[in-house]
Amino acid sequence: TSPLSDRVTVMQESATIAMAKKSRELVAKGFDVINLSFGEPDFQTPQYIKDAAKQALDDGFTFYTPVAGIPELRQAICDKFRRDNQLDFQPNQIVVSTGAKQALANAVMSLVNPGEEVIVFSPYWVSYEEMVKLADGVAVTLVGTLENEYKVTAAQLEAAITPRTKLIMYSSPCNPTGAVFSRAELGAIAEVLARHPQIYALADEIYEYINFVGEHASLAQFPEVADRVITVNGFSKGYAMTGWRLGYLAARPDIAYACEKMQSQITSGTCSIAQRAGLAALRGGRASADEMVAAYRRRRDLVLDIVKDIPGFITPTPSGAFYIFPEVSAYFGRTAPDGSSISTSMDLAMYLLNDALVSAVSGEAFGAPECMRFSTAASDEKLTEAFRRVKASLAKLA
Ligand code: PLP
Repeated sequence: TSPLSDRVTVMQESATIAMAKKSRELVAKGFDVINLSFGEPDFQTPQYIKDAAKQALDDGFTFYTPVAGIPELRQAICDKFRRDNQLDFQPNQIVVSTGAKQALANAVMSLVNPGEEVIVFSPYWVSYEEMVKLADGVAVTLVGTLENEYKVTAAQLEAAITPRTKLIMYSSPCNPTGAVFSRAELGAIAEVLARHPQIYALADEIYEYINFVGEHASLAQFPEVADRVITVNGFSKGYAMTGWRLGYLAARPDIAYACEKMQSQITSGTCSIAQRAGLAALRGGRASADEMVAAYRRRRDLVLDIVKDIPGFITPTPSGAFYIFPEVSAYFGRTAPDGSSISTSMDLAMYLLNDALVSAVSGEAFGAPECMRFSTAASDEKLTEAFRRVKASLAKLA
């Protein structure tokens, strides 16, 4: 019998990581695979941020930090919330973690009791559902419609609430769809939550800076629900700092303290050097992010221009983040040149990996089995070549 716990046995391996593994195998065999399965900026971390990390090392800043983060960074995060989001937090409401991922996990583990329901807006980021399972909660997925760019509406939310609902979870800008909730849409959601005082909200704003429509609205800006919103953000996407493992949340002091306690027993907080780098990043403002966003927008437009000519590839225009998330179910039921049949998004992703040498992630992992996610965080040349190949491979399906 297996020594492994039920907890880990029922857990799915991250689908994005599984796809990346398969494409690495092909690369190792010498194939020219274009990897569009990763959720990662292809830019280097800006130099001024790297310099701050070098300085931290030279200063001997190599010891444990306070679990919730160094005081200067927690203060700088408060300043950022005030400047960018018109939100007022005190440093004791901020918990710095090993990526936004740990901030999300801390919040879920700190809020959800066994059997409580978490409404996960779908399509969702792959880890949400697994985090809820880890907390022995019940993930209830709520699917937005294609016509509404997959955004869940307030009416849908209202209808999904039960006496066991404890938390809602969503990202805006959204991974995988790139949809951005407007202030009015979040206001309507806030109105629903205002009528259900037992429900909390986990707002994942990690893609805040990668926004092509301009306005970033936060659920915490609505006073009637502000003290029940946990806002998560970080450095991975906006500052191209995925490997530094640095993110944070802002919440009511009792919730922030619970997250700090959770973190104190699991990681003791994140890397001292990364925290100094994050401090420099925030003090530098968002100029470096704005440069990257200009590139992400150009690439989005480039890709949309190619894929608009691919039949059965229904792609809403992303308002943010760096993915396209086409609906591809028109290809289900088709047959590949080698005779194998395509019945799912996973089959199609495997076909594209083998035939087009382009790796993407099937929609199943995001709670949207008719869709597929392609990252647009790659060079213009790679993107042009990748979607030319995808188009050619799809045309071969009978
Ligand atoms: N939230 C969303 C929606 C993401 O896409 C990601 C990364 O892919 C994260 C959180 C995790 O970010 P971090 O690298 O800061 O842990």
